[in-house]
Amino acid sequence: MELVINFSGGKDSTAMLAWLCERYPDVPKHVVMADTGWEHEDAIEWSRGIVARFGLVLHVVRNPNKTLISMARKRGKFPGMSQRQCTSDLKRGPVHTWIRRRWPQRKSAPHPPVIVSCMGLRAEESSSRAGKPCLTKLNILCGRRREVWDWNPILGWTEVQVRAYLAERGLPLHPVYGHLRRFSCRVCIYMTDHDLRAVAQHDPAAIAIIATVEREIGFTMFQRGAIEELVVAPARKK
Ligand code: SF4
Repeated sequence: MELVINFSGGKDSTAMLAWLCERYPDVPKHVVMADTGWEHEDAIEWSRGIVARFGLVLHVVRNPNKTLISMARKRGKFPGMSQRQCTSDLKRGPVHTWIRRRWPQRKSAPHPPVIVSCMGLRAEESSSRAGKPCLTKLNILCGRRREVWDWNPILGWTEVQVRAYLAERGLPLHPVYGHLRRFSCRVCIYMTDHDLRAVAQHDPAAIAIIATVEREIGFTMFQRGAIEELVVAPARKK
């Protein structure tokens, strides 16, 4: 068995990485980060640093044809919560391609490798995550000479547990947690207005980029309004 550890640089994937290294010290591990092209400026360097603490190397994968912003421009719309094309095309797809290339289905392979792709999803985060199984066979990548499973090893962990686990081990949180709940894309489709106001304060260029694209394509990232209106909404209400 070999582990593919899907890593974002956020608290959950860091806790998962630490736990897997402690629990399965002798199992080969490959840490993979999918870069959407819309990550925080230092996300990759930060992630390399965390992964290096465990003596591992970070593999960064990308969709060669698009980033989150170019995808919105090409399609004339941003990804939505129901059809998260950002996750399928920019995260899951590139990681699957990496797995296919790393373990091609060679006839000469004496034993088909068993690959377990680990994700740091937690049930507490949303009802859809709460409904996810802990372990599923990833049929799309399986064949006669390759067996792949999806595993959510920290599915039952709470945020309090995650933070305590990291603190006990002296593992740092990215500074973005000082003003945001999640270490996601610079502006993520799941952000609340409160999050957007925090981004406007700490990364105003990200708001400006989304606002420009919204005007260009005539489509807003959030159904509830244009981003520039959302970030000033409370001031208007006063
Ligand atoms: S962090 Fe948000 S915007 Fe980025 S890929 Fe994930 S769901 Fe999409």
